[in-house]
Amino acid sequence: MSFLLIEHADVLVTMDAGRNEIVDGALLAKDNRIVHIDDSMAMHRYLHQHNITPDEVINASGTVVLPGLINCHHHLYQTLTRSLGTSAGLSLFDWLKTLYPIWGQMDAESVYTSAKLGLIELILSGATTVADHLYLFPNGSRLDDEIAAAQELGVRFHPTRGSMSLGESQGGLPPDNICDTEEHILKDSQRVIETFHDAQEFSMCRVGLAPCSPFSVTADLMKLSANMARSYPAVNLHTHLAETIDENRFCLQKFGKRPLEYMESLNWLGDDVWFAHMVHPDDEEIKKLAHSCTGVCHCPSSNMILASGIAPVRQMVDANIRVGLGVDGSASNDGNQMLGEARQAMLLQRVGWPGFESSASRFSAREALELATVGGAKVLQRPDIGSLETGKAADFVAFRVDDLQHAGGHNDKVASLLTCASTGVWLSVINGRIIVQNGELLNVDIESLVYRHNKLAHTMLVNAGKAR
Ligand SMILES: [Zn+2]
Repeated sequence: MSFLLIEHADVLVTMDAGRNEIVDGALLAKDNRIVHIDDSMAMHRYLHQHNITPDEVINASGTVVLPGLINCHHHLYQTLTRSLGTSAGLSLFDWLKTLYPIWGQMDAESVYTSAKLGLIELILSGATTVADHLYLFPNGSRLDDEIAAAQELGVRFHPTRGSMSLGESQGGLPPDNICDTEEHILKDSQRVIETFHDAQEFSMCRVGLAPCSPFSVTADLMKLSANMARSYPAVNLHTHLAETIDENRFCLQKFGKRPLEYMESLNWLGDDVWFAHMVHPDDEEIKKLAHSCTGVCHCPSSNMILASGIAPVRQMVDANIRVGLGVDGSASNDGNQMLGEARQAMLLQRVGWPGFESSASRFSAREALELATVGGAKVLQRPDIGSLETGKAADFVAFRVDDLQHAGGHNDKVASLLTCASTGVWLSVINGRIIVQNGELLNVDIESLVYRHNKLAHTMLVNAGKAR
């Protein structure tokens, strides 16, 4: 049993139901659970009354403390192919067709190494929980490889076992050689659930099933995956949906239905489902998402860089849809900056909405932080994370606001985290463990990891015949 005390935070943002923010805030964790939150003076009275002497005390003066940020959609392996499609200015379908053959060169080591690199970048930008979507497994690679990286780093992980089964020869988008048989996909999905999935409170590893998209898997695989997920506790369903106008066209041509209508016909709406993107829902579809309690992960940088469009996040939040935030794959962002992604969400909702008089007030910094914390917890069905309250998991981060980037922004220190330039965390605690201290990730040699990662990335390009 061990007590960790954080005290004297300039502001501690709880994200509790009342959205309380505590000046001179303090938080006490016992092992992996938050046991008390108050201002620092009241916290000392509490410690005295309960005769508690903390094992470790961190003075967080000069920082804003937040619940750990939650990334709800990612493809960590794509750090291996950053800037290839994005620098060429490709939109989604052409971007995918350019990258598929390179991704086909991955192996177990490149999946592990890229996951570790991407997760480190996310942790240093405030993420404490990460959902990843790995949907191709060439050359013997497995979901196990990225789970190993997450376990080594101590990040809370929601790996989703993705899949592609609808190759070009059957009218799908990906080349046949990176698609898999449905029999193997289902067998391996069962294996990873039974090997790694933990449905308990404070779980560090929850597996989900995630056929890649309507244009890369069959209707049968969507249905069979849903049946399998629903036969286990807390195994959720995830896929890409309504990301582009091209996808709308594809679904109308191939299935005679818009993307959401198609997913509904496959029994893919519900509180155990979350869709990445939803850039192009119409008003009726927004009602349908709300009514069915289906979750959405907003990925603003990816939607901008691939010119997919602007997701109607304001409307979806107002309709009480569960909306979280994701950086999306590292090759369509091309970064893993979680706080920066919240800033992008705030900025993007302020533009492109003709008819709204005061667009700058259309989406606040605090609302964007809600997407990245409580919003993400709702999307992943994790009532044990996302806010700083007694009884919740000890997942929290501190950002300095006494530095160069925030100088002069002290009128509203919480909003300044998003209105000023995005910075890295000063402190990150995940499941009660200190992972980042004084801005440094403990016990990881980042330089040699980057070196190895870049060698692997280069070899993939050479093998795909795309090296310059
Ligand atoms: Zn994605």
